[in-house]
Amino acid sequence: MSILPEPLRTAQRHVRRWADELRAGALELDRDPEAVHRSLDLPAVRFLAGHLTPPGWDRVGPEPGSGPAHGLATLERAVLCEELARGDAGMMLGAPGPSMTGVLLGVLGSPAQRERVYGRLAERPRWTCFALTEPDRGSAIGEMTTTLTPLGDGSYRLDGEKRYVGNAARADLGVVFARVAGTERLGVLAVLVDAADPGYRAEPLPTLGLRGVQLSRLVLDGVHVPADRVLGAHLPPTRRGMWGIVSVFNRLRPTVAAVALGIARAAHDYVGENRGELRGAERDAHEELGRRIDAARRLTHRAALAVDRRPSDGYLASAAKARACQVAEEVTLRAPGFFGPGARLDHPLLDKLARDARGVEFMEGTRNVQKLNLFQGLHTGKVDRL
Ligand SMILES: Cc1cc2nc3c(=O)[nH]c(=O)nc-3n(C[C@H](O)[C@H](O)[C@H](O)COP(=O)(O)OP(=O)(O)OC[C@H]3O[C@@H](n4cnc5c(N)ncnc54)[C@H](O)[C@@H]3O)c2cc1C
Repeated sequence: MSILPEPLRTAQRHVRRWADELRAGALELDRDPEAVHRSLDLPAVRFLAGHLTPPGWDRVGPEPGSGPAHGLATLERAVLCEELARGDAGMMLGAPGPSMTGVLLGVLGSPAQRERVYGRLAERPRWTCFALTEPDRGSAIGEMTTTLTPLGDGSYRLDGEKRYVGNAARADLGVVFARVAGTERLGVLAVLVDAADPGYRAEPLPTLGLRGVQLSRLVLDGVHVPADRVLGAHLPPTRRGMWGIVSVFNRLRPTVAAVALGIARAAHDYVGENRGELRGAERDAHEELGRRIDAARRLTHRAALAVDRRPSDGYLASAAKARACQVAEEVTLRAPGFFGPGARLDHPLLDKLARDARGVEFMEGTRNVQKLNLFQGLHTGKVDRL
């Protein structure tokens, strides 16, 4: 039995219809990430631009029959993002809108900071970015070297370099994670930045998978950060800093798992639709892959509910992210086998899906890192054995 409430299932059916339109532009976007600018009028892209946007700032408005889902809850995001990623994960992740910055604002943003960001996003489709990963330190938050130097009046000077930041080269605004100069390993803050800030520079990087996301390098050279751009400053000390940041990552992980599931389903459906009737061992293999996708989805939805109930509870989210990426990798690598030798050349979509599945494995931490997190939960008894 589905754990999804009826309004969410209605929204899911609605969003599912848009997947084909995203698919139609998928290979073009894979060849040329700039093609995203030609897709801004697609209903799915318009939805994403308003998706994660609180009511009142929602530029798009609810689609008729889509129910009240704004994508604000983790379960909503997981369900809707899987449908869109089945159409095309590159387009889904490369669309304008609040994206991960919206999740962070929901946890750490003050009303004025939300007004600042959503007000800009309401003017026209704009991209945001979420800059954590660094060239030599990866996304290990305790080892970050990008620095916020206090200037004595509540403002900071921001210096450093970020890498593999999605959409940064096309973003107008975003958030950067940095360590406050002179503090311990965990003295990390998230601050709002604007692409027009002097000292801010972003350029695209060459990539193989999820090319629509336009991963970028970001250089921050003495960017001035006024006090009112520090996220979480209005919250009690226990709710800002690492607590807030960890709970944001816990909320994001089921969505990344859902993107992996969307990619896996796209490959699985492609085989079903293009191979003709499958028989014997091939049919069994195809059905088995379908069951593995369904099982990973059930885990992802459980993980999303757990995070919605308690944002600090991210162990299942790690399990779901690891499992969904494993399934996506397996399905996308086995799908060409249903078409014989040379299938990745003859079926470019299958080739793209296999590359995209590798990209999503690296988003939000690799499988090894998720397994370490899950093991900690098992070891401390904070998560039941599955
Ligand atoms: C499509 C895409 C979009 C992205 N978007 C963003 C974004 O918007 N913003 C952003 O800041 N970053 C983004 N990233 C970067 C991404 O978050 C990081 O690459 C990811 O978190 C992995 O971190 P890392 O590079 O530090 O790799 P690491 O964690 O260092 O891992 C490197 C390798 O070492 C292994 N490993 C690491 N630790 C252990 C361990 N303890 N035991 C065993 N093995 C280990 C890993 O499994 C992996 O194989 C994106 C990446 C991709 C591919």
